[in-house]
Amino acid sequence: MARISDLIAAGRTFSFEFFPPKTEMAQLSLGRAVAELEALKPSFVSITYGAGGSTRQRTQQLVKWIRQETTINPMAHLTCQGHLRTEIDEILAFYAESGVENILALGGDAPADGSSAPSDYTYASELLDEVLASGKFAAGVAAHPEVHPRSPDRATDRKFLAAKLRRADFAITQFFFEVEVYVSLVEELRALGVDKPVIPGIMPVTNKSQILRMAELSGAAFPSWLAERLDAVESPDDVRRVGVEAATELCRDLLEAGAPGLHFYTLNRSTATREIYANLGLPAVH
Ligand code: FAD
Repeated sequence: MARISDLIAAGRTFSFEFFPPKTEMAQLSLGRAVAELEALKPSFVSITYGAGGSTRQRTQQLVKWIRQETTINPMAHLTCQGHLRTEIDEILAFYAESGVENILALGGDAPADGSSAPSDYTYASELLDEVLASGKFAAGVAAHPEVHPRSPDRATDRKFLAAKLRRADFAITQFFFEVEVYVSLVEELRALGVDKPVIPGIMPVTNKSQILRMAELSGAAFPSWLAERLDAVESPDDVRRVGVEAATELCRDLLEAGAPGLHFYTLNRSTATREIYANLGLPAVH
């Protein structure tokens, strides 16, 4: 059983996100993180895809390696902006041939340098339809609890998210720091008649300036109580300890609120995730 839709139906999922490394040293770090996290028997891991196909080969090779050389069930992220249909067809065929059964269908972003490649797609929902039509994959989509930065308002954001999630198998959220943010998202989707599983994304703070940058880019509000707890400590080790404590509390609250799983943004490191796992008393689940 490797379709994430089946895993969610069978119980809570615990999963990790990795990105394809650029250098040999970074490959070593990732290899170590994968080995250490494999021991936790995650339900699945997901591998990011560089917008516009910038990591196309590296993402494909890493997903295939995980599928074929480890015991872990991989999900490939795939963005559609900047791709032609023929390219998407090739990538989906590659994953199907490699035995990969899960795709996260994403819109992606235009390149930061302002260049634009010819594109057959504008929105994630168009890629989602193609992934579903192939009949070969469980398909997830992205959700932005604090509203996607390009959405004109909350109601419009939820309308398009509900339309896409109604057809998808599940959603994974952008990271956030307070349980209420997740609960509101789930309630707003329910009010629109959508009760598909929404898996919260967790980003433990391990470095304050890095997380502030990432929160600003993604539109996640950084709460003052968390900033104060982090400001009260000096050393990098203490920042990490406070970050892990705060993430543990958030995970507990999310599980109590009925979240169907937890998805950890690992940044290709294993320590924080393993500590949170231990704090939560989580067994290896699948
Ligand atoms: P969409 O669903 O297309 O939404 C983008 C915007 O368009 C939203 O404002 C939405 O409301 C609006 N919209 C949607 N449909 C319509 C419509 N029909 N008409 C008008 N407006 C519409 N990026 C990467 O490059 N690589 C990754 O691997 C990656 N992984 C991610 C994983 C997760 C869990 C998350 C939450 C995000 C990830 N991203 C990744 C970031 C994502 O690609 C960007 O946030 C992107 O800007 C939007 O992607 P989306 O799939 O939400 O797009």
